[in-house]
Amino acid sequence: MGRYSALSLLRGAFNGQSHWRPAWRHPDPKPAYDVVIIGGGGHGLATAYYLATRHGIRNVAVLEKGYIGGGNTGRNTTIVRSNYRQEPLSRMYETSLKLWQTLSDELNYNVMFSPRGALFLGHSDADMIRLAEKGDAMRNQGIDAELLSVDQLRKIEPLLDFSRDARFPIEGGMIQWRGGTARHDAVAWGFARGADAAGVNIIQRCEVTGIVREGNRAVAVETTRGRIAAGTIAICVAGHSGHVAAMAGLKLPVESQTLQAMVTEGVKPMVQTVVMSQSLHCYINQSDKGGIVFGGDPDNWPSYAQRGQPMTLEGAVAQGLALMPSLSRLRMLRCWAGVTDMSFDGAPIIGPTPVDGLWLNGGWCYGGFKATPGSGWLFADSLAHGRPHEIVEPFSLHRFERGAPVDENGVGPMPNHR
Ligand SMILES: Cc1cc2nc3c(=O)[nH]c(=O)nc-3n(C[C@H](O)[C@H](O)[C@H](O)COP(=O)(O)OP(=O)(O)OC[C@H]3O[C@@H](n4cnc5c(N)ncnc54)[C@H](O)[C@@H]3O)c2cc1C
Repeated sequence: MGRYSALSLLRGAFNGQSHWRPAWRHPDPKPAYDVVIIGGGGHGLATAYYLATRHGIRNVAVLEKGYIGGGNTGRNTTIVRSNYRQEPLSRMYETSLKLWQTLSDELNYNVMFSPRGALFLGHSDADMIRLAEKGDAMRNQGIDAELLSVDQLRKIEPLLDFSRDARFPIEGGMIQWRGGTARHDAVAWGFARGADAAGVNIIQRCEVTGIVREGNRAVAVETTRGRIAAGTIAICVAGHSGHVAAMAGLKLPVESQTLQAMVTEGVKPMVQTVVMSQSLHCYINQSDKGGIVFGGDPDNWPSYAQRGQPMTLEGAVAQGLALMPSLSRLRMLRCWAGVTDMSFDGAPIIGPTPVDGLWLNGGWCYGGFKATPGSGWLFADSLAHGRPHEIVEPFSLHRFERGAPVDENGVGPMPNHR
């Protein structure tokens, strides 16, 4: 029997689990670290984990203003996939998907990776051509993709509305079977536990309020728990990227927008895959607890409110119900929102900034959860060697000056990018 046996659980019921050991320490901040990571979401924690375990850089602090995973990492709809058309995106997301496949073993923590299939629906001939082209591009890059006819789709997702007079008729789809979902907060906790065990200090309730520069070099951060010096400072704060970078005098090409989602009461398995429609921009999947998760567009105007517009959510739900009318009987349990940092080509920004010693990992828009292990792996490698890993080179901040965006239709934040 393990440490947390049935007897131990029973004991916990009477003593408030006071005998449970915390999964990570709660150290006070030291005056200085080799690397300070701002933001205790999945990306910051994964970066710390790989810095410590793969590069031997253990004098690392992750500073989190709230609690770890309390940002977008704990607010997303958990979709994991690598079905992109452009090579730079495919390479990065495929790096991540490969890491997802063994992440539970790597962390000795069940992140509940569930490769149930990531399905894109086509609603017109034009959609189907676009999906076929995308599938070809994926296969050319060694990534699995299968174009599906309506008859094949019927067997996979029988609850979709296949009628010819449906509001959004279904003409077929494309599936990446290795895509699926993972448990979002388990990812934060698993990386946190692993990073802590390797010597990283995870410091919660520690907000970074300033970045101290000496000339063009960032040398320390001001925090609600005092000044902390750092050899390297890495910003991993998702929707707060613009705000935190401004502390060092930088203006980023990102806009913070609210993205929301909702979940219904739990029901028996009825949605087998992750169903997405890029033409409508809505998606549906069923959580492991049985709730049907709906998501859609961001609110499309700048905001730091972790609360979304009901009209936007209503639109996503209406579209989802048009695809699967039988879901209309379910009751909504809750809805929530996160603040995403929308870059202007829809691709992330990873690499050094014009301020020496200050690096950025952001601009993930509404798609950064799937990148968590890959982003951490590649960012840690970049920080450890003081140069961007070649897979993240195309995602440099300089691409906007050079006119070299990584713009994939269907990923970008603007409706006309689909
Ligand atoms: C509703 C919704 C659905 C989504 N669905 C998906 C999906 O299905 N698949 C997918 O791939 N992606 C999805 N995303 C996007 C994904 O969640 C994010 O891209 C990803 O989680 C970003 O991770 P992160 O670690 O960079 O950021 P976060 O998890 O947000 O972590 C950043 C942390 O920085 C902290 N912070 C901010 N400012 C400071 C400061 N000054 N000092 C200290 N700490 C600070 C925050 O408190 C936060 O904890 C979704 C997002 C939302 C909101």
